[in-house]
Amino acid sequence: MRRKRTPYQKFQDELDKLCGDIVKERDGHRCRRCRKRVLVYWAHLIRRSRSKAVRWNLFNGIALCRDCHFWFDSSADKIEAALFIESMIGKEKMVELNELAHDKNAKPWLISDLKKKKVELTDKLIK
Ligand SMILES: [Zn+2]
Repeated sequence: MRRKRTPYQKFQDELDKLCGDIVKERDGHRCRRCRKRVLVYWAHLIRRSRSKAVRWNLFNGIALCRDCHFWFDSSADKIEAALFIESMIGKEKMVELNELAHDKNAKPWLISDLKKKKVELTDKLIK
């Protein structure tokens, strides 16, 4: 039996949806790697499993098609993937993102943080 999702998890789902929509919209529903205008997915430069801190950071998100997303996630050549990230957001942003992602003092997200993030992201979507 599937476990019922907690309000916290539901909120996370909402933020995921919102953030994904914003990123795809921003990238013009076009794959950032191959530039094809096909069905795109919201991909994380720094994986969700590696850092919760930048899960909804818009700099950490890019639109990728299925093939490029697969290439990126399973990239055997990590250097190539790192170069790709750098070409997407630039070296400075990449360093900043890495620092945010690996901040050991980062607190877990509270519902109030998620609510704030939702307002911030909804604002971006409207503009
Ligand atoms: Zn692609």
